[in-house]
Amino acid sequence: AHLDRIAEVDGEIHAFLHVAADAALEQASAIDAKRAAGERLGPLAGVPVAHKDVFTTKDMPTTAGSKILEGYRPPYDATITARLREAGLVILGKTNLDEFAMGSSTENSAYGTTHNPWDLGRIPGGSSGGSSAAVASYQAPLSTGTDTGGSIRQPAAVTGIVGMKPTYGGSSRYGVIAFASSLDTPGPFARNVLDAALLHEAFSGHDVMDTTSIHSEVPPVVEAARRGDVSGLRVGVVKEFGGEGYQAGVLARFQDSVELLESLGAKVVEVSCPSFTYALPAYYLIAPSECSSNLARFDGMRYGLRVGDDGTHSAEEVMALTRAAGFGAEVKRRIMLGTYALSSGYYDAYYGSAQKVRTLIARDFEAAFHQVDVLISPTTPTTAFPIGERADDPMAMYLADLCTIPANLAGNAAISVPCGLADEDGLPVGLQIMAPVLGDDRCYRVAAALEK
Ligand code: GLN
Repeated sequence: AHLDRIAEVDGEIHAFLHVAADAALEQASAIDAKRAAGERLGPLAGVPVAHKDVFTTKDMPTTAGSKILEGYRPPYDATITARLREAGLVILGKTNLDEFAMGSSTENSAYGTTHNPWDLGRIPGGSSGGSSAAVASYQAPLSTGTDTGGSIRQPAAVTGIVGMKPTYGGSSRYGVIAFASSLDTPGPFARNVLDAALLHEAFSGHDVMDTTSIHSEVPPVVEAARRGDVSGLRVGVVKEFGGEGYQAGVLARFQDSVELLESLGAKVVEVSCPSFTYALPAYYLIAPSECSSNLARFDGMRYGLRVGDDGTHSAEEVMALTRAAGFGAEVKRRIMLGTYALSSGYYDAYYGSAQKVRTLIARDFEAAFHQVDVLISPTTPTTAFPIGERADDPMAMYLADLCTIPANLAGNAAISVPCGLADEDGLPVGLQIMAPVLGDDRCYRVAAALEK
């Protein structure tokens, strides 16, 4: 049924870069056979999932949305890919994304833009916009994403679905094509909170292949999603997120959520996190710095595209020609920004300062969580914007991440859940719920209470 749905609507939406129809049907039949033989299967066995094309898959191409990886077939599965398979999830295919997960709209993909199912003229968010659009348009019940600076929560918000960024290190980065290693966090998308929790639980947990993977038990997210109550819970509204620059309809739905939480028995107070104001500039130094280092491996020698290898160019020239042709404008911008920020003489002023801001943000979270159990804010300042509107204005594009980035810089758990439609455009609005590091279950508990 999902493959039929893909055939029916994906021509217009373009959520998928690769559909693995035969492999999916084969896998589904294998699971049916196991079930018929009386084998005990997990809760997600046989459930289809759309997989962001930043996770390596040994039986499918993996492009990261970049021309430089065109035709690349990885020799191994990412840990998350392997865990999806082990849980019996059926991988339908690979979904579109901004090149190397850099962007907030999928417009930076080398393979075309994904369209928002609510309004085909608008962006589905990014970078995991193929994954959000696939779930929002019923092409898949579940999908995977990665959230480095909001790339799960923002697409979830603007397509009206649930998207969760787990605690950093709670989900493995092994086989996730690296953008900013200290921030990259895989997580789930679903149309309801419990489904997201089930997928979260299926692929999380310690991985020996990832040195930053945490050793703790996976927080009890499924139990929390089933429980879904907020009575007696202390909820902090982040004072710094709201007001000027925020769409009226977004603020109205946020206010509705505050009132709903109060009516369900939560105690809502305002909390100030003054350093959150500096999160965006700090992120746009740290993320490009790490990306400039991570993307050095794409040199035309080891993977994918190679340009100028005709015997007339030196190896250095082949590398330069390959990178010039293979990387898109945003990726080049980030590599240049990052290289500059890391260069001697500028390092302390830029990268060093940004790292200090990161510490201040973590302290703001710590102080806030002495007062409250969770923090809430709108997920994004506006609803989905029109395709093309911010494509040539990186600063405007970066503003989409204003509220999501603090949780990345501090490594906290954070979820986005739908909280209604904005009056002025009828488009979905997301509510962000942030919890302490390893407090992922709290995100689900509050999210599930609001869903009831
Ligand atoms: N939009 C942000 C960026 O462009 C976040 C991307 C992400 O989380 N992968 O960097």
